[in-house]
Amino acid sequence: MAEKSFKYIILGGGVSAGYAAKEFASQGVKPGELAVISKEAVAPYERPALSKGYLFPEGAARLPGFHCCVGSGGEKLLPESYKQKGIELILSTEIVKADLAAKSLVSAAGDVFKYETLIIATGSTVLRLTDFGVKGADSKNILYLREIDDADKVVEAIQAKKGGKAVVVGGGYIGLELSAALRINNFDVTMVFPEPWCMPRLFTADIAAFYETYYTNKGVKIIKGTVASGFTAHPNGEVNEVQLKDGRSLEADIVIVGVGAKPLTALFKGQVEEDKGGIKTDAFFKTSVPDVYAVGDVATFPLKMYGDMRRVEHVDHSRKSAEQAVKAIKAAEGGGAVEEYDYLPFFYSRSFDLSWQFYGDNVGDSVLFGDSNPSNPKPRFGAYWVQDGKVVGAFMEGGSGDENKALAKVAKARPAAESLEDLTKQGISFAAKI
Ligand code: FAD
Repeated sequence: MAEKSFKYIILGGGVSAGYAAKEFASQGVKPGELAVISKEAVAPYERPALSKGYLFPEGAARLPGFHCCVGSGGEKLLPESYKQKGIELILSTEIVKADLAAKSLVSAAGDVFKYETLIIATGSTVLRLTDFGVKGADSKNILYLREIDDADKVVEAIQAKKGGKAVVVGGGYIGLELSAALRINNFDVTMVFPEPWCMPRLFTADIAAFYETYYTNKGVKIIKGTVASGFTAHPNGEVNEVQLKDGRSLEADIVIVGVGAKPLTALFKGQVEEDKGGIKTDAFFKTSVPDVYAVGDVATFPLKMYGDMRRVEHVDHSRKSAEQAVKAIKAAEGGGAVEEYDYLPFFYSRSFDLSWQFYGDNVGDSVLFGDSNPSNPKPRFGAYWVQDGKVVGAFMEGGSGDENKALAKVAKARPAAESLEDLTKQGISFAAKI
């Protein structure tokens, strides 16, 4: 059992950790001042790659190609870069106990890590069907996707069951991206989800109709309005059938489950204030405990433009919140301060030849614009959300860089809309004028 002390510890080795380390390095840290502790065996990487390029049948993305911070066009921090910058990268190390009052963390191996300032960047973990007691959910080849080890299991299963049958449980972005990846790998894919349309937390019925028809045209079967209620397995333990609550059953060589995630806050329960399922922070990602910050998926922070506390599970926020926390820490040390975090929510996803971006808030009435015909070889359409006469959210499939920038400006400026009909008619040119 060893004891080590650092001025700063970043707990977690995901997207936020990578961007926090980059910000520390660019502001300057002395050798031995900063440690990144991660239970993963690899240096921080851009997690979104796992459900996209990582699963391509040819030319698949592999590390070190997508270490942080390439996702935002920044410097790639290879494992050796941390050492060169004086940062200690402590991998394959799970912290199992945190004592925020004593400023210490204890690993599964019993090592103790002391800090002066802690940044919690533990992210989320997937919800598992076994947590809900679904019968047979522990069968082999029922897979989840969060970390690179999970992605390797998916790749292994794709290779072992070449051209087989896959059932994807869940209709969120993980379900949509995984269904596309499996289809591209020549699997016979069926998606199953309980809601009336895919991505219901963001998409309107109109937007979802485009993606569902596009997917169907690509050969993905979609079963809505029911859930997987049980699984049966071959004698070797591998899944072979999914039972649906509506009485149907589906053959399956692989099942991928994407039914949501929960923030990893358990280590800190009772020690720090929480809000909306996450660790409550201020606009500098400071928690209720002195010298403890929380960033990325675990943070519930003030979303200034909406006057509301939110938790955001998306990569853009994980990058920006990490940078904000480190800037605030460094500024405070010099007796200064940084501006409050003023975040514009931004999400994106890519699958098949599709690529969409969304900015702002999806509340109020919505209108569609452009060509949302799924048979068009280059679909380009969008949507606006209007609340109290103002455009508060903007979405576009197939937008150019400039068009996406214009949408971001709209969502930030929240301009008045004459009418929903006018917005439909003007389409992207409405955004271009802002
Ligand atoms: P994470 O990146 O999850 O990192 C958390 C880290 O903490 C992990 O390394 C974990 O092992 C480590 N950790 C946790 N607990 C401990 C412990 N006790 N001890 C040591 N280490 C610990 N967002 C988008 O906007 N667009 C996308 O297209 C998109 N695609 C995605 C695809 C996939 C497959 C996944 C899983 C997520 C995707 N996201 C996407 C969401 C985005 O990746 C997350 O919001 C982001 O990674 C959150 O960053 P984070 O640093 O908070 O958490």
